[in-house]
Amino acid sequence: MIRADLHIHTTFSSDSTIQPKTLVEQLVNHSSIKVAAVTDHDSIQGCSLTQKLASAYPDILIIPGVEISTHQGDILILGTTELPPQPWTMENVVDFARDNNCVSVAAHPYREYGLGDLARGSRVNAIEVLNGGSPSSANQQAQVLARSMNLPGVAGSDAHSPQELYSVYTQIDSNLNADNILNAIKKGHVKVSSC
Ligand SMILES: [Zn+2]
Repeated sequence: MIRADLHIHTTFSSDSTIQPKTLVEQLVNHSSIKVAAVTDHDSIQGCSLTQKLASAYPDILIIPGVEISTHQGDILILGTTELPPQPWTMENVVDFARDNNCVSVAAHPYREYGLGDLARGSRVNAIEVLNGGSPSSANQQAQVLARSMNLPGVAGSDAHSPQELYSVYTQIDSNLNADNILNAIKKGHVKVSSC
């Protein structure tokens, strides 16, 4: 069983102040969360640097990802080291994730830039039901959406500053291996919690 923060922005997102080094240091020092997904806005540049810094520590894992601003709303892709091809529509991004064995997640569906009810017509793998930056009412609506679509619910801090890191986590029935973690999420072997 591992605990993961599946939605984090580094300084490779123009609106974040989190240095990759800070992300890694806080992950190393955290008592229970040992996995973090780097999901910058429309950029995968921060992933490789963060992974490189994390490689010095065998007990933590960085999952490379991205948060794509599609025309319909934000979608996280977990497990990718590449950007999907343009145009970034909901369909194209979700299809790209499926074709590349990644996990697609409707990010904060009921907050600004979320897919909202459009997520119902998508083939995303999971719904972000606990977002550290969303009001609880929006997270509750996302929880209802996940249940009605019979999809796994995941959690991520959506941290843009160091003090926001690791505020929530997804508990995943997996070992410290990225492929196993992504498969466990798809199977719904997950539970979300706040710290
Ligand atoms: Zn975000």
